[in-house]
Amino acid sequence: MRILLCSLLLLAFISPTCFASSKTLSDEEIFQKRMELYKRVETVTNIPWYYMAAVDHYERSIRSVRNDLPKAKGITGIYFKPEQWSGLLNPDRKDVHPLSIQFFNGIGVDGNGDGKANINDDVDILFSFANHILNYGIDEDQFKIALWEYYKRDKTVGIIMEKARLYKHFGRLDLNHKTFPLPRGYNYTYHNTWGDSRGWGGRRIHEGTDIFAGYGVPVRSTSYGIVEMKGWNKFGGWRVGIRDINNTYHYFAHLNGFAKGLKIGQIVKPGTLIGSVGSTGYGPPGTSGKFPPHLHYGMYKDNGRTEWSFDPYPYLKQWERLDRIRASKK
Ligand SMILES: [Zn+2]
Repeated sequence: MRILLCSLLLLAFISPTCFASSKTLSDEEIFQKRMELYKRVETVTNIPWYYMAAVDHYERSIRSVRNDLPKAKGITGIYFKPEQWSGLLNPDRKDVHPLSIQFFNGIGVDGNGDGKANINDDVDILFSFANHILNYGIDEDQFKIALWEYYKRDKTVGIIMEKARLYKHFGRLDLNHKTFPLPRGYNYTYHNTWGDSRGWGGRRIHEGTDIFAGYGVPVRSTSYGIVEMKGWNKFGGWRVGIRDINNTYHYFAHLNGFAKGLKIGQIVKPGTLIGSVGSTGYGPPGTSGKFPPHLHYGMYKDNGRTEWSFDPYPYLKQWERLDRIRASKK
Protein backbone atom coordinates (compact mmCIF):
# COMPACT_ATOMS: atom_id res chain seq x y z
CA MET A 1 0.00 0.00 0.00
CA ARG A 2 2.78 2.34 0.99
CA ILE A 3 4.72 1.58 -2.17
CA LEU A 4 1.63 2.16 -4.29
CA LEU A 5 1.02 5.52 -2.65
CA CYS A 6 4.62 6.55 -3.25
CA SER A 7 4.39 5.61 -6.92
CA LEU A 8 1.19 7.58 -7.33
CA LEU A 9 2.74 10.61 -5.66
CA LEU A 10 5.77 10.34 -7.90
CA LEU A 11 3.59 10.08 -10.98
CA ALA A 12 1.61 13.07 -9.89
CA PHE A 13 4.49 15.40 -9.12
CA ILE A 14 7.54 14.29 -11.03
CA SER A 15 7.67 13.43 -14.67
CA PRO A 16 8.92 9.83 -14.97
CA THR A 17 11.76 10.78 -17.32
CA CYS A 18 13.16 13.29 -14.83
CA PHE A 19 12.95 10.82 -12.01
CA ALA A 20 14.64 8.00 -13.89
CA SER A 21 17.34 10.27 -15.24
CA SER A 22 18.78 11.68 -12.03
CA LYS A 23 18.36 8.67 -9.73
CA THR A 24 19.84 5.86 -11.75
CA LEU A 25 22.79 7.49 -13.49
CA SER A 26 26.38 7.75 -12.28
CA ASP A 27 27.97 11.19 -11.90
CA GLU A 28 29.89 10.59 -15.10
CA GLU A 29 26.70 9.74 -17.01
CA ILE A 30 24.95 12.82 -15.63
CA PHE A 31 27.84 15.05 -16.81
CA GLN A 32 27.61 13.38 -20.21
CA LYS A 33 23.82 13.85 -20.45
CA ARG A 34 24.15 17.48 -19.42
CA MET A 35 26.81 18.12 -22.03
CA GLU A 36 24.56 16.54 -24.69
CA LEU A 37 21.75 18.89 -23.69
CA TYR A 38 23.97 22.00 -23.77
CA LYS A 39 25.35 20.99 -27.17
CA ARG A 40 21.82 20.43 -28.44
CA VAL A 41 20.90 23.97 -27.40
CA GLU A 42 24.10 25.26 -29.00
CA THR A 43 23.31 23.53 -32.30
CA VAL A 44 19.89 25.16 -32.50
CA THR A 45 20.59 28.61 -30.99
CA ASN A 46 24.38 29.15 -31.44
CA ILE A 47 24.59 29.94 -27.70
CA PRO A 48 27.97 28.46 -26.65
CA TRP A 49 27.49 25.31 -24.52
CA TYR A 50 29.62 26.79 -21.71
CA TYR A 51 27.17 29.68 -21.26
CA MET A 52 24.26 27.30 -20.76
CA ALA A 53 26.44 25.09 -18.55
CA ALA A 54 27.40 28.08 -16.38
CA VAL A 55 23.81 29.27 -15.85
CA ASP A 56 22.60 25.75 -15.22
CA HIS A 57 25.35 25.03 -12.73
CA TYR A 58 24.85 28.35 -10.93
CA GLU A 59 21.14 27.68 -10.49
CA ARG A 60 21.74 24.13 -9.29
CA SER A 61 24.26 25.27 -6.68
CA ILE A 62 21.94 28.03 -5.43
CA ARG A 63 19.09 25.55 -5.08
CA SER A 64 21.28 23.17 -3.13
CA VAL A 65 21.90 25.78 -0.40
CA ARG A 66 18.60 27.70 -0.34
CA ASN A 67 15.61 26.40 1.60
CA ASP A 68 13.06 28.59 -0.17
CA LEU A 69 13.69 26.89 -3.54
CA PRO A 70 12.82 23.27 -4.42
CA LYS A 71 15.86 21.04 -4.99
CA ALA A 72 16.76 20.20 -8.58
CA LYS A 73 15.37 16.81 -9.61
CA GLY A 74 16.26 16.49 -13.28
CA ILE A 75 19.46 16.75 -15.29
CA THR A 76 19.17 20.53 -15.47
CA GLY A 77 19.24 22.81 -12.46
CA ILE A 78 17.51 25.96 -13.72
CA TYR A 79 14.44 26.83 -11.68
CA PHE A 80 11.42 28.80 -12.91
CA LYS A 81 8.57 29.83 -10.66
CA PRO A 82 5.20 28.65 -12.08
CA GLU A 83 4.03 32.26 -12.62
CA GLN A 84 7.32 33.09 -14.34
CA TRP A 85 6.91 30.10 -16.62
CA SER A 86 3.24 30.61 -17.50
CA GLY A 87 3.18 34.43 -17.36
CA LEU A 88 2.28 36.69 -14.45
CA LEU A 89 -1.29 37.40 -15.60
CA ASN A 90 -1.95 33.90 -16.90
CA PRO A 91 -4.95 32.51 -14.97
CA ASP A 92 -3.58 29.00 -15.54
CA ARG A 93 -0.39 28.64 -13.47
CA LYS A 94 0.11 25.13 -14.85
CA ASP A 95 -0.28 26.19 -18.45
CA VAL A 96 1.67 24.03 -20.92
CA HIS A 97 0.40 25.60 -24.15
CA PRO A 98 3.26 27.50 -25.82
CA LEU A 99 0.93 30.00 -27.49
CA SER A 100 -1.02 31.05 -24.41
CA ILE A 101 2.21 31.17 -22.37
CA GLN A 102 3.68 33.42 -25.03
CA PHE A 103 0.53 35.56 -24.99
CA PHE A 104 0.91 36.14 -21.24
CA ASN A 105 4.65 36.83 -21.60
CA GLY A 106 5.64 33.66 -19.76
CA ILE A 107 9.19 32.43 -20.23
CA GLY A 108 8.26 28.78 -20.95
CA VAL A 109 8.77 27.40 -24.45
CA ASP A 110 8.51 23.99 -26.10
CA GLY A 111 12.12 22.93 -26.63
CA ASN A 112 11.70 19.24 -27.41
CA GLY A 113 8.97 19.64 -30.04
CA ASP A 114 6.22 17.69 -28.28
CA GLY A 115 3.85 20.66 -28.52
CA LYS A 116 4.01 21.37 -24.77
CA ALA A 117 6.07 23.78 -22.71
CA ASN A 118 6.65 21.56 -19.69
CA ILE A 119 8.21 23.21 -16.63
CA ASN A 120 9.58 19.81 -15.55
CA ASP A 121 11.21 18.88 -18.85
CA ASP A 122 14.99 19.35 -19.04
CA VAL A 123 14.99 20.30 -22.71
CA ASP A 124 12.07 22.72 -22.38
CA ILE A 125 13.75 24.31 -19.36
CA LEU A 126 17.07 24.87 -21.13
CA PHE A 127 15.46 26.21 -24.30
CA SER A 128 13.33 28.59 -22.24
CA PHE A 129 16.43 30.13 -20.68
CA ALA A 130 18.18 30.09 -24.06
CA ASN A 131 15.21 31.96 -25.48
CA HIS A 132 15.64 34.66 -22.83
CA ILE A 133 19.31 35.03 -23.83
CA LEU A 134 18.40 35.26 -27.53
CA ASN A 135 16.33 38.36 -26.76
CA TYR A 136 19.66 40.11 -26.10
CA GLY A 137 22.17 38.24 -28.24
CA ILE A 138 24.90 35.68 -27.84
CA ASP A 139 28.18 37.58 -27.78
CA GLU A 140 29.79 38.05 -24.37
CA ASP A 141 28.50 41.56 -23.65
CA GLN A 142 24.98 40.72 -24.77
CA PHE A 143 25.02 37.55 -22.69
CA LYS A 144 26.07 39.61 -19.65
CA ILE A 145 23.16 42.00 -20.20
CA ALA A 146 20.77 39.06 -20.49
CA LEU A 147 22.09 37.77 -17.17
CA TRP A 148 21.82 41.15 -15.49
CA GLU A 149 18.25 41.63 -16.68
CA TYR A 150 17.39 38.21 -15.30
CA TYR A 151 19.18 38.26 -11.94
CA LYS A 152 19.57 42.02 -11.25
CA ARG A 153 22.74 41.31 -9.26
CA ASP A 154 26.27 42.15 -10.43
CA LYS A 155 27.86 39.48 -8.29
CA THR A 156 25.69 36.77 -9.82
CA VAL A 157 26.62 37.92 -13.33
CA GLY A 158 30.30 37.84 -12.35
CA ILE A 159 30.06 34.37 -10.86
CA ILE A 160 28.30 32.94 -13.92
CA MET A 161 30.86 34.53 -16.26
CA GLU A 162 33.68 32.95 -14.22
CA LYS A 163 32.04 29.55 -14.48
CA ALA A 164 31.66 29.99 -18.24
CA ARG A 165 35.36 30.84 -18.54
CA LEU A 166 36.34 27.73 -16.59
CA TYR A 167 34.13 25.43 -18.67
CA LYS A 168 35.42 26.95 -21.89
CA HIS A 169 39.05 26.72 -20.76
CA PHE A 170 38.93 23.09 -19.64
CA GLY A 171 36.35 21.94 -22.20
CA ARG A 172 34.46 19.72 -19.78
CA LEU A 173 31.93 19.83 -16.96
CA ASP A 174 33.61 17.77 -14.25
CA LEU A 175 35.85 20.25 -12.42
CA ASN A 176 35.34 18.95 -8.88
CA HIS A 177 38.76 17.43 -8.24
CA LYS A 178 40.57 18.87 -5.18
CA THR A 179 43.99 18.63 -3.58
CA PHE A 180 45.60 19.51 -0.22
CA PRO A 181 47.17 23.01 -0.31
CA LEU A 182 50.67 21.86 0.71
CA PRO A 183 52.54 19.28 -1.37
CA ARG A 184 53.50 15.89 0.05
CA GLY A 185 56.97 15.60 1.47
CA TYR A 186 56.94 18.75 3.63
CA ASN A 187 56.42 18.82 7.38
CA TYR A 188 53.29 20.52 8.57
CA THR A 189 50.70 20.28 11.36
CA TYR A 190 47.13 21.43 11.67
CA HIS A 191 44.23 21.03 14.07
CA ASN A 192 40.59 21.85 13.98
CA THR A 193 40.68 25.52 15.01
CA TRP A 194 37.60 26.74 13.19
CA GLY A 195 35.44 29.04 15.30
CA ASP A 196 38.14 29.62 17.93
CA SER A 197 38.43 33.14 19.26
CA ARG A 198 42.21 32.70 19.07
CA GLY A 199 44.16 32.09 15.89
CA TRP A 200 45.23 34.43 13.16
CA GLY A 201 43.56 35.80 10.09
CA GLY A 202 39.83 35.12 10.37
CA ARG A 203 37.48 37.91 9.45
CA ARG A 204 35.40 37.69 12.66
CA ILE A 205 35.82 34.49 14.62
CA HIS A 206 38.65 32.27 13.43
CA GLU A 207 37.20 31.44 10.02
CA GLY A 208 39.61 28.84 8.81
CA THR A 209 42.24 26.25 9.58
CA ASP A 210 45.84 27.18 10.39
CA ILE A 211 48.34 24.83 8.77
CA PHE A 212 51.72 25.34 10.45
CA ALA A 213 54.79 24.78 8.27
CA GLY A 214 58.20 26.30 7.63
CA TYR A 215 58.80 29.53 5.71
CA GLY A 216 58.76 29.00 1.96
CA VAL A 217 56.83 25.71 1.84
CA PRO A 218 54.87 25.83 -1.45
CA VAL A 219 51.16 26.69 -1.29
CA ARG A 220 48.99 25.38 -4.11
CA SER A 221 45.46 25.90 -5.32
CA THR A 222 43.16 23.24 -3.89
CA SER A 223 40.64 23.42 -6.74
CA TYR A 224 39.90 24.35 -10.31
CA GLY A 225 39.04 28.03 -10.22
CA ILE A 226 39.88 31.63 -10.93
CA VAL A 227 42.11 33.92 -8.87
CA GLU A 228 39.64 36.51 -7.67
CA MET A 229 41.77 38.41 -5.18
CA LYS A 230 45.48 38.94 -4.56
CA GLY A 231 47.11 41.52 -2.32
CA TRP A 232 47.64 42.81 1.20
CA ASN A 233 45.19 42.81 4.06
CA LYS A 234 46.00 44.16 7.54
CA PHE A 235 45.18 40.85 9.21
CA GLY A 236 45.60 38.35 6.39
CA GLY A 237 48.92 39.75 5.15
CA TRP A 238 49.72 38.70 1.59
CA ARG A 239 46.75 36.64 0.56
CA VAL A 240 45.01 35.03 -2.39
CA GLY A 241 41.34 34.23 -2.98
CA ILE A 242 40.23 31.64 -5.52
CA ARG A 243 36.62 30.91 -6.51
CA ASP A 244 35.91 27.38 -7.70
CA ILE A 245 33.25 26.07 -10.07
CA ASN A 246 30.88 25.37 -7.16
CA ASN A 247 30.97 28.99 -6.08
CA THR A 248 33.13 28.19 -3.06
CA TYR A 249 35.70 30.83 -2.26
CA HIS A 250 39.09 29.53 -1.07
CA TYR A 251 41.14 31.96 1.00
CA PHE A 252 44.93 31.62 1.52
CA ALA A 253 46.50 34.06 3.98
CA HIS A 254 49.84 35.08 5.62
CA LEU A 255 51.79 34.08 2.49
CA ASN A 256 55.50 34.82 2.32
CA GLY A 257 55.02 35.83 -1.30
CA PHE A 258 53.15 34.98 -4.48
CA ALA A 259 54.02 32.56 -7.25
CA LYS A 260 55.80 34.33 -10.09
CA GLY A 261 53.35 35.86 -12.54
CA LEU A 262 50.26 35.01 -10.51
CA LYS A 263 47.53 37.48 -11.37
CA ILE A 264 43.89 38.26 -10.71
CA GLY A 265 41.67 36.56 -13.29
CA GLN A 266 44.12 33.71 -13.83
CA ILE A 267 42.65 30.22 -14.25
CA VAL A 268 44.16 27.65 -11.90
CA LYS A 269 43.73 23.94 -11.26
CA PRO A 270 44.37 21.71 -8.25
CA GLY A 271 48.11 21.88 -7.56
CA THR A 272 48.84 25.19 -9.32
CA LEU A 273 51.51 27.02 -7.28
CA ILE A 274 50.12 30.27 -5.83
CA GLY A 275 52.72 31.23 -3.20
CA SER A 276 54.53 29.99 -0.13
CA VAL A 277 53.98 29.76 3.63
CA GLY A 278 54.87 32.86 5.63
CA SER A 279 53.85 34.92 8.64
CA THR A 280 52.72 38.16 7.04
CA GLY A 281 49.98 40.36 8.44
CA TYR A 282 48.95 42.29 11.53
CA GLY A 283 50.44 45.56 10.32
CA PRO A 284 51.18 47.69 7.27
CA PRO A 285 52.13 45.96 3.97
CA GLY A 286 55.17 43.73 4.38
CA THR A 287 54.78 43.20 8.15
CA SER A 288 56.02 39.70 8.97
CA GLY A 289 57.06 37.54 11.92
CA LYS A 290 54.44 38.55 14.48
CA PHE A 291 53.39 34.89 14.83
CA PRO A 292 54.73 31.48 13.75
CA PRO A 293 54.64 30.84 9.97
CA HIS A 294 51.50 29.10 8.80
CA LEU A 295 48.96 29.01 6.02
CA HIS A 296 45.56 30.29 7.05
CA TYR A 297 43.07 28.46 4.85
CA GLY A 298 39.42 29.53 4.77
CA MET A 299 36.38 28.47 2.75
CA TYR A 300 33.32 30.60 2.01
CA LYS A 301 30.03 29.82 0.30
CA ASP A 302 27.74 32.15 -1.64
CA ASN A 303 23.99 31.48 -1.89
CA GLY A 304 23.10 34.20 -4.38
CA ARG A 305 22.44 36.71 -1.61
CA THR A 306 25.18 36.51 1.00
CA GLU A 307 28.50 34.79 1.64
CA TRP A 308 29.35 32.82 4.77
CA SER A 309 32.29 30.90 6.16
CA PHE A 310 32.30 27.17 6.83
CA ASP A 311 34.78 24.80 8.40
CA PRO A 312 37.49 23.65 5.95
CA TYR A 313 39.00 21.11 8.38
CA PRO A 314 37.04 18.00 7.28
CA TYR A 315 37.75 18.82 3.63
CA LEU A 316 41.46 19.28 4.28
CA LYS A 317 41.52 15.88 5.99
CA GLN A 318 39.75 14.30 3.03
CA TRP A 319 41.99 15.90 0.37
CA GLU A 320 45.10 14.97 2.32
CA ARG A 321 43.94 11.35 2.44
CA LEU A 322 43.07 11.28 -1.28
CA ASP A 323 46.46 12.80 -2.18
CA ARG A 324 48.13 10.05 -0.17
CA ILE A 325 46.08 7.34 -1.93
CA ARG A 326 46.86 8.79 -5.36
CA ALA A 327 50.57 9.01 -4.55
CA SER A 328 50.66 5.38 -3.42
CA LYS A 329 49.08 4.27 -6.71
CA LYS A 330 51.79 5.92 -8.79
ZN1 LIG B 1 44.21 31.34 10.78
